[in-house]
Amino acid sequence: MRVAIIGAGVIGLSTAQCVYEQYHSSVSPLTIEIYADRYTPLTTSDGAAGFWQPYLYDKGNTLETKWNKETFDYLLSFLSSPDSIKMGIFLQSGYNLCDKPSPDPSFKDIVLGFRKLTDRELDYGWFNTAIMIEGKTYLPWLMDWLRERGVKFYQRKIDSFKELADAGADVIINCTGVRSGELQPDADLKPGRGQIIKLGNWSEMNNSIDHKRIWEQACSLEPSLKNARIVEDWSGLRPARSKVRLERETMNFGPSTCEVIHNYGHGGFGLTIHRGCAMAAAKLFGEILEKKYPSTRSRL
Ligand SMILES: Cc1cc2nc3c(=O)[nH]c(=O)nc-3n(C[C@H](O)[C@H](O)[C@H](O)COP(=O)(O)OP(=O)(O)OC[C@H]3O[C@@H](n4cnc5c(N)ncnc54)[C@H](O)[C@@H]3O)c2cc1C
Repeated sequence: MRVAIIGAGVIGLSTAQCVYEQYHSSVSPLTIEIYADRYTPLTTSDGAAGFWQPYLYDKGNTLETKWNKETFDYLLSFLSSPDSIKMGIFLQSGYNLCDKPSPDPSFKDIVLGFRKLTDRELDYGWFNTAIMIEGKTYLPWLMDWLRERGVKFYQRKIDSFKELADAGADVIINCTGVRSGELQPDADLKPGRGQIIKLGNWSEMNNSIDHKRIWEQACSLEPSLKNARIVEDWSGLRPARSKVRLERETMNFGPSTCEVIHNYGHGGFGLTIHRGCAMAAAKLFGEILEKKYPSTRSRL
């Protein structure tokens, strides 16, 4: 069984990890290959702030709420482990400040130490302790983890799913983030640029006007920031979608077919939801295995 995963951001790497964890002992041989044209430290996942905080998502979406919570519990379980440092997991307490009255966030019962601000603090917002998972540390850790278990990495752009099917992949997992539309049109997918959410803007160039606006707004909420030193400017594109696309599709390429699992469109909360989605994608992979090779059912 040969699995080709397109994408080496947090979604592709964690999906590879879950497929390995759940099936390497029951499917033999299981070959996992990762194809990507950008690897750490050059993916969107590397540049993300790394907060576990569902950001701009539909809280009525029960599946996404479940995947967020599963990821939180997974990360929390590593906090007191020596691996947490190598993985880039740590706690960070702080304020979420708002410029007008806002309802409590949907995740207030999940995060640690949630409380509203007191009169002596600021007018609107809340305080909590967040779990941080920094992509620029987590991605190298995931790559080492996968490499040690024989997962193969290829640096190249994939132009079509057929290309990998023709090369012998039994299952393709599509974790291409904001660029998924290059492989299959998706009218629901749009880039959400930087901290300013310019939907539809594909530029990854730093922009001095946006920089000034973000800086001035942040300083108006927290004036002490005026004395802060700017370490780095970075612009990234969130893979914004009305909901995460996590589903199976059977693709026909002439006489042959190939199973594709889509796992993309995690918007501004890819690190927050990654593990729950990776486990769900691995479960879809298990369904394909059972269908393709019914004899493996008892071993799964
Ligand atoms: C400014 C900013 C701050 C953010 N802060 C947070 C935060 O604090 N917490 C949080 O949870 N989320 C945050 N996010 C969101 C988070 O970064 C994304 O949701 C997440 O990185 C998406 O991961 P991904 O693996 O899908 O995509 P990516 O990290 O973009 O990875 C996509 C991969 O697919 C590959 N690829 C794409 N197309 C092809 C192709 N045709 N051929 C070969 N390879 C291909 C790329 O090379 C890359 O390896 C932030 C985003 C931005 C922009």
